[in-house]
Amino acid sequence: MADIAFIGLGNMGGPMAANLVKAGHRVIGFDPVPQAVEAARGKGIEIAESAGEAASQAEVVFSMLPAGQHVRAVYSGAGEVIAKAKPGTLFIDSSTIDVASARAVEEAASAAGHLMVDAPVSGGVAGAEAGTLTMMVGGSDAAFDMAKPFLEIVGGKVVHAGGPGNGQVAKVCNNMILGISMIAISEAFTLAEKLGLSPEKLFEISSTASGSCWAMLNHNPVPDIVPTSAANRGYVPGFAAGMMHKDLKLSQEAAAQAGVATPMGAEATALYTMFVNAGRADQDYTAIIKFIDPTRE
Ligand code: NAD
Repeated sequence: MADIAFIGLGNMGGPMAANLVKAGHRVIGFDPVPQAVEAARGKGIEIAESAGEAASQAEVVFSMLPAGQHVRAVYSGAGEVIAKAKPGTLFIDSSTIDVASARAVEEAASAAGHLMVDAPVSGGVAGAEAGTLTMMVGGSDAAFDMAKPFLEIVGGKVVHAGGPGNGQVAKVCNNMILGISMIAISEAFTLAEKLGLSPEKLFEISSTASGSCWAMLNHNPVPDIVPTSAANRGYVPGFAAGMMHKDLKLSQEAAAQAGVATPMGAEATALYTMFVNAGRADQDYTAIIKFIDPTRE
């Protein structure tokens, strides 16, 4: 059994760290927020005074942080994880962050003699609690092989996406598809209804026709079309619009850096920016249909 540091014990990190404890590992956590620390203690996680102190006691360091700036700060900055970790420590960053930060931190970790993978996740808080997250992993073969047994505890599906940063590439590209799809479905279901075709009939036809897609089948923005949609529960997340907005912005940063035109991704980002600026970040991302059809309010 391993000694594992876990940095960032929030909505996702808390349950992921708890699953590592349940699997029999010793987990030493750190988070600056007292409520997160208290909840973690209750799940059998030991608490350190700083990220660096937690890392210094571990063979493996997990992190689950809000954004790229936090990951850089924890590993290379004031958090001192790279500086304090024992040589050869394995770092697993599961935060959703920009590709450039993921690659920069991996480079710094490698230069200091550590191994690192980026392993962003899909599956939300329910997946974190159940240990069924999909893990998209970027890193060397050696780092991936070392990380896999730990990733299999917190995740249900673990995919090696290629070299450093490729987990983040997979995550932003997947979520750009999801954001664009959600808007397309919202437009089509609204148009159909205004033209006299019920959402139920459009679903019956399109769900097995060429317009079908994952978002239509699982997160249909019209209430009571599919059982798994947050639309049925008053658009309570689920997957918050603020999270979708964050991921779309990451896709546009990456597109600008790679010199790739993503006009549909840009439109989706603009629409979710307006939605979030209207104070709706905490609604489910399916609620974007109310922007397309304000009569649904
Ligand atoms: P959260 O805000 O609940 O948790 C982040 C935690 O990091 C907080 O407890 C915060 O105090 C802590 N933190 C911030 N700075 C820190 C530092 N310097 N040292 C240690 N801890 C620090 O967010 P979350 O929902 O757990 O999301 C975490 C990551 O997972 C994000 O990148 C998010 O995009 C991604 N993600 C979230 C979901 C979801 O449904 N919540 C789904 C997939 C991916």
